[in-house]
Amino acid sequence: MSKTYIPVALRELVRARAKSLCEYCLIREEDTYFGCQIDHILSEKHGGSTQESNLAYACSYCNRNKGSDIGSIVWEAQQFSRFFNPRVDQIWYVKIKDTSEIRPYKCKPHQIEQVHWAQTQTQLSATVIWATILKAFENWENPELDEIIAILNEDYPIHQITISMEQIKQMLNAAKNAADTRKKIWELMVIHEFDGNTDTATVFYKIANELDQDKRLIYKSIKNVQKIMKIEMTEYAS
Ligand SMILES: [Zn+2]
Repeated sequence: MSKTYIPVALRELVRARAKSLCEYCLIREEDTYFGCQIDHILSEKHGGSTQESNLAYACSYCNRNKGSDIGSIVWEAQQFSRFFNPRVDQIWYVKIKDTSEIRPYKCKPHQIEQVHWAQTQTQLSATVIWATILKAFENWENPELDEIIAILNEDYPIHQITISMEQIKQMLNAAKNAADTRKKIWELMVIHEFDGNTDTATVFYKIANELDQDKRLIYKSIKNVQKIMKIEMTEYAS
């Protein structure tokens, strides 16, 4: 939480620079419950200034989790890891504990197993690879790693893929988990007779407790499922 007054123009600059995404978890502001806030990357408690170079746009979830801390201890690795700095670091991946989920993220140590971050811009960003994986899921039931690599190779020479195969594999597994979650949500929605037009919050409150998943992931997945349901309903009607 900011203690210093932040002028409106500076707030607007930070929001526009972040393209209205949380700079830590990359959620779109419009997909959050409570909107985004201006975050001091290095907190005021630790001498962080109220200047553009020390400000980031953060959802309330990330902001609250970060608090005034400067880093976390990754217990499994017995290692102190400073927090992601959106002004300096390009990509940060964390593996969420007890899941195979890897995502660009920053969160508290009890959820993190491993942290990797890249301080230099990769030629082919994780975002591009992630988008490719998602696209593959639109076209195939269960895309495999070699298929993802083949698609990437159509557009990018292999040497530009600076991210490791292991990381791509982990991203693919995360996508598979997300697809499983969507399937489960779809089934539960059918049971409760919800569809693409049901208020998302209503669906969430009814089924969130029936799924053993991160609540924000469930909320986002419900929105995705409803989008697909709406498309199918339109196609069915025409
Ligand atoms: Zn966030």
